[in-house]
Amino acid sequence: MLAGLKARRVAKLPSDVRFAGRVLFLAEAAGLVSRQLEGEDLTWSPAIKLRDNISTDEITPAYICYYYDATLGDFPYLGLKCGEDFPITRGAVKRGGFVASVSGKRRGKGSSREQSPYAEMCAGIRLVVAENIERIYRENCQNLGLLATTDFSIIDKVRRGEAIPLAAFTAGEGEITRGIIEYGGLFNFNVARLQGEVVLTAPATPRRAMTLGEKIIARHWVVDPSRGTIGVPAVRPGDEGFVVTDIRFSHEYVTPMAAIFFEQLVGPDEKVNDPGSVLMFRDHLTFLGEAMTPERVKEGLLDVALQLEKKQREFAARQGIKLYGELRLGHHGSEAICHSKILEGHAEPGTVIIGSDSHTPHAGAVGCLAFGVGTTAIFNSWITKDVRLTVPETVKITVRGKKPDNVTAKDFMLEILRHPYVKGGQAIGRLVEYCGDAVESLSVDERATMTNMTAEVGGFTGYVAPDEKTVAYLMEYRGLSRAAAARLCAGLTSDPDAEYCEVIEIDAGAIRPMMALPGDPGNGSYIDEAAERIRVDIAYAGSCTAGKKEDMDMYARVLAEAAERGERVAPWVRFFIQCGSQDVKRYCDEKGYLELFRKVGAQFLEPSCGACINAGPGVSKTREEVTISAINRNFPGRSGPGQLYLANPYTVAASAIAGHITEWQPGMALASKES
Ligand code: SF4
Repeated sequence: MLAGLKARRVAKLPSDVRFAGRVLFLAEAAGLVSRQLEGEDLTWSPAIKLRDNISTDEITPAYICYYYDATLGDFPYLGLKCGEDFPITRGAVKRGGFVASVSGKRRGKGSSREQSPYAEMCAGIRLVVAENIERIYRENCQNLGLLATTDFSIIDKVRRGEAIPLAAFTAGEGEITRGIIEYGGLFNFNVARLQGEVVLTAPATPRRAMTLGEKIIARHWVVDPSRGTIGVPAVRPGDEGFVVTDIRFSHEYVTPMAAIFFEQLVGPDEKVNDPGSVLMFRDHLTFLGEAMTPERVKEGLLDVALQLEKKQREFAARQGIKLYGELRLGHHGSEAICHSKILEGHAEPGTVIIGSDSHTPHAGAVGCLAFGVGTTAIFNSWITKDVRLTVPETVKITVRGKKPDNVTAKDFMLEILRHPYVKGGQAIGRLVEYCGDAVESLSVDERATMTNMTAEVGGFTGYVAPDEKTVAYLMEYRGLSRAAAARLCAGLTSDPDAEYCEVIEIDAGAIRPMMALPGDPGNGSYIDEAAERIRVDIAYAGSCTAGKKEDMDMYARVLAEAAERGERVAPWVRFFIQCGSQDVKRYCDEKGYLELFRKVGAQFLEPSCGACINAGPGVSKTREEVTISAINRNFPGRSGPGQLYLANPYTVAASAIAGHITEWQPGMALASKES
């Protein structure tokens, strides 16, 4: 493979770029967006209120990602919610002749799906302008060759068709990002690197006190790829380079697009580098047939989606890659959700893991550096086994004190997500170190709820330093001896005088059960402060975040009490419980939970992402439906068109019985007579 790539001709882009086309302002007012689609060009003024927090779910809703080729160009922004309206329809952006797309804060938050910038590119967008841009989305843009800036003065230059120096997009960037932009994308840059056309400056950071995240990066730093020299004494924030990975994984939403890039750009008969450390998962769409509307099925979308499974399965088989697949037991479901299985079966303290999914930090619960990357980065890692990275600054989040019994790691995260520093986007792209006695007292499962939701924080990744609980986890889940598990954890702590860009202190004792109001996980508030009773139609207990053994313990704790009182799920509520893996299901079976769930009227589902990604039982069907869910994000449209509230597992189970959102107290009666 490398011989072929070494002979490939790649060249840099010209030093000036021009944009021939219109500018699309993604405004809060649906009418303004519609007028642009009808042909009106708006004059830019800060008085135009731009949409903030445009997630990748809004740029390309989950069902759009069943496409993995240029067809995506028909669909950008189909999920964009402006007030109560969705003003952008299929093909409208492409027809409009737009070349630049402008929005407000935190553009591209949420899922790491590269289909979003790829859809924009395929619709003709070549430039993204936003007040700030989420890390993975920005990297995906760079990797694909889509230019991105936070400089709004560029809008007038685009309008005038002026030549804009490429340097305007590389200013302030490090050597590698600059190179990727100049080469028009990551693949060309990597080819130039393999050819010796690009020789990266050796890192020169002297020994210094480091955070745990920085230490893991330093240990994995690629110094000389031709000699396989790995590791430097120290790194500091801003150092840019490549790190060698221990595990690379992807799921069926991403693998097919990466496979196509691989086959087209590298060659259909070429082999990936070290397939033994690559894993693939069929987890997102196994229940899709039960969630897709008849209209979408009629449009052929179910058939399109099934191609994702087929393409991944064939590619994995051809490449000799381990695939955690779909069950074939007469019912739908997966062997495991990717994050669940990576944590249960693969992640080791101190390692580097990359995954095609924004919740890859889940595995940071055992003290590894696990982060999400886009399709192009995964595809390139199949060639080089490494991944680019700029050393982020580290935010330390200390949670101290004794939490109330009915408060969980989910509440810690909802509290953290509404902290002004996090809500204002200042943690974007940073390492997040969770510590303090309240974190130390959590199980690894609960720590994973925190590291998982680093995606919602917008962080590069999150981790918890390994300790005795990690040792016990590795012994239980991997069958390691105590000595072997302790060896893996040894020395993995932050130095006492390590530098943090911010320290956030949270008092666990002051937190009460929370809910995040629909629209954003940062909309947290205490349940006991709700102005009125919120009746629920659906309760969903599952996903990578909330489908672990300890989550099941929490649902079961509430439901066992309810069952003893003869209470059942409220008649008007549909309650779904779904594990993250077959291991968790076996655990539920052994503990008698499956029987308990059935007894109280909950519907148990085989492991899969399902409703969490709007692709399984538990999704809402109308805007009026209200869901209480233990998943990690509630962006518009995430789990159907309804109103999605997030809460901890106790709250979800208690609300299913009560029929309205309620926090849970041990021993409280829940059943409501309301109908
Ligand atoms: S369960 Fe939800 S958050 Fe987790 S990987 Fe699946 S879709 Fe993503």
